[in-house]
Amino acid sequence: MLMLEKLRKIVQDVDSAPNFTAALDTMVTSVRETMGTEVSSVYLLDEKSNRYILMATEGLNPDAIGTVSLGWNEGLVGLCGAREEPINLDNASAHPKYHYLPETGEEKYNSFLGVPIMHRRKVLGVLVVQQRDKRKFDESEEAFLVTLSAQLSGVVAHAKAVGSFDVIRTPTPRANITRVFNGIAGASGIAIGRAVVMYPPADIDSVPDRVAEDTDHEIHSLRIALEAVREDIRELDKKMAGALMPEERALFDAYLRMLDDNALGGEIEERIHAGNWAQGALREVIEKHMQAFAAMDDPYLRERRADVRDLGLRILAHLQKQESASLREFPDHSILIGEEITTAMLVETPLDKIGGIVTVEGAANSHMAIVARALGIPTVLGVSELPVTQLDDTEMIVDAYQGRVYVQPSRQLRTRYKDIIKEELQLVAGLDAYRDVPAETPDGHRVALYVNTGLMADVARAKDRGAEGVGLYRSEIPFMLRERFPGEEEQRGIYRQQLEAFAPRPVTMRTLDIGGDKDLPYFPIKEDNPALGWRGIRITLDHPEIFMVQIRAMLKAAIGLDNLQILLPMISSVFEVEEALHLIHRAMMEVQEEEGVPITMPRIGVMVEVPAAVFQIGDMVQLVDFVSVGSNDLTQYMLAVDRNNARVADIYTPYHPSVLRALQMVVDEVHRAGKPVGICGEMAGDPGTAMLLMAMGFDSLSMSASNLLKIRKVICNVPYIQARGLLEQVMQVDNAAVIRSLVEFELEDLGLLDLLRPGKK
Ligand code: PEP
Ligand code: MG
Repeated sequence: MLMLEKLRKIVQDVDSAPNFTAALDTMVTSVRETMGTEVSSVYLLDEKSNRYILMATEGLNPDAIGTVSLGWNEGLVGLCGAREEPINLDNASAHPKYHYLPETGEEKYNSFLGVPIMHRRKVLGVLVVQQRDKRKFDESEEAFLVTLSAQLSGVVAHAKAVGSFDVIRTPTPRANITRVFNGIAGASGIAIGRAVVMYPPADIDSVPDRVAEDTDHEIHSLRIALEAVREDIRELDKKMAGALMPEERALFDAYLRMLDDNALGGEIEERIHAGNWAQGALREVIEKHMQAFAAMDDPYLRERRADVRDLGLRILAHLQKQESASLREFPDHSILIGEEITTAMLVETPLDKIGGIVTVEGAANSHMAIVARALGIPTVLGVSELPVTQLDDTEMIVDAYQGRVYVQPSRQLRTRYKDIIKEELQLVAGLDAYRDVPAETPDGHRVALYVNTGLMADVARAKDRGAEGVGLYRSEIPFMLRERFPGEEEQRGIYRQQLEAFAPRPVTMRTLDIGGDKDLPYFPIKEDNPALGWRGIRITLDHPEIFMVQIRAMLKAAIGLDNLQILLPMISSVFEVEEALHLIHRAMMEVQEEEGVPITMPRIGVMVEVPAAVFQIGDMVQLVDFVSVGSNDLTQYMLAVDRNNARVADIYTPYHPSVLRALQMVVDEVHRAGKPVGICGEMAGDPGTAMLLMAMGFDSLSMSASNLLKIRKVICNVPYIQARGLLEQVMQVDNAAVIRSLVEFELEDLGLLDLLRPGKK
């Protein structure tokens, strides 16, 4: 077998092991066999004792498993972990770090190759092979072990997160232990409630386990679904009668047999009797069979996995069809959890019942997070280790200040968090005083505070908190809630509501900004690199029919109100601005003619979201009336960090000196042209960055309604001169983390730190 094939086989075997212990055993057995060594072992670092524990071995005394351990810096294993690199020795016993472990029955092993198991920069353990002879493992063997260890790291990290690591070493597993998972804070706040698993239809892997409330009902649903699938297959078989050879048609017979009571059908029923609901039982059985097939050496049988999966999906589709008829229930304070929860999935839930959101994928500036923020729902994203399917209806605490999730929290933890919720309410009550005061610093510098909207729900909250207008209406949100592009009249009605609610204050409507992470279900765009692809203005200029309908609807909606401003997203060249202006002018003429009334030309703005616009803003601003910085995308493109990718979320920071310098450049250039400049990215709603933005000279800050009062409090309490002083100091610093600390110190000095997180003074 080629090396690559061997690797694939081991990874598959490890993946399909029924539990963590079996996965480790499979790993050491396969490594020993493939590399032809005498010993192969896995040591895992136990964080509490800070020791490497022997967790699996082939070649050493099996009784030593779980008992023998080494200090974090002890022996060659410790050295390998401390250096975070492979150690490859052909005369290990002569090494000063060599540590003889009699309990393992270890003889003098001269050759040693150890590779650290790393996950997200942390050492989780060490994978070791040993041999008596003096054998120098060659480069390809070392590379092989490094590759395997990288694969194993995901399995170990997952096992640690779900507690299997403890279970192995603790003879009686404690079912009620609080489990903690880390992610990224998306929308701040605290929520305590029960998990409701959200999963896309027709995705068998994400179906959660759920206690069957009525076993007979679940069995009944299953039988209906099975019969429906049988019917589908018989139909297919008939249709294919002329087109397929009899042996090819035999597959349909095989499918029918697999659905029998003594095959899949029976097994699923068994799982239902054991307590799971029909969809969960189906997932369990399909998963088991897929794993069994994957582990087979025969390539023909391995491929049969696809058939099992296909059948599973067919059954699931019929089960889900029955389910959607009976609407799902959401208890009060539901915590929505899922691999990925899209904006469309979120807005379909009864929002008043939703206490929090937790997802495996995603990062703080993904679109759903922005909507959650607007709705004030505490959200944690990128919780990569969350075992979603096991958590339906489990009690959880979402700490969306720290990006942390507690599953089955202890009573003490719940009490502590209930106190924080109380403090939060007091903070909000204290902010009431800032409802009707202008956003002006104690030394008289005025900043306009606008709101970002998308849903009608945002409007009431924004007005209640004294927004001076809308700085960003994300027009794609109403598009997302429909099943097709809304027509002109439909759009006019939607826009009119927004414009009317704020008139005479300005409402800045952004033209359709889809693509990137914002897909419309009815207009999917599949690209390898969507952030650099067809998005924002690029799409609407390619589809003038969509753009024109939208502009005409906006112009019509504004008749008699005249508070419309139009904002162009994702601009990267002057030509795009010119083209868009041309279309807007055309739409104006058309509407004027049709309506027979004079139409006021709306003020037009460009968004600065890509570095190209930063450097050409002096040219662009000549063509328009105002500029608005979209710092979410600008940060993404300045730093080349995907705003949705949890893996790089900690290097996505608006405090990066390059981002701050770019922002200052834009402000200066736009002011040189005598025009106003605002910012509508998430930076505007964060107390720390807002202070810097004000000091830079931004004329307006636009944010989600939930941040308005906080930011008004910051502005009313920070003298402009002091913010300028801080900015000057910050602009000399070359490191984002240091800048953030300086800003937080300043907030602390001003007694405003509790705005970042209640409980901190
Ligand atoms: C931005 O990019 O900063 C912005 C406001 O637009 P969105 O977050 O909708 O992409
Ligand atoms: Mg953007």
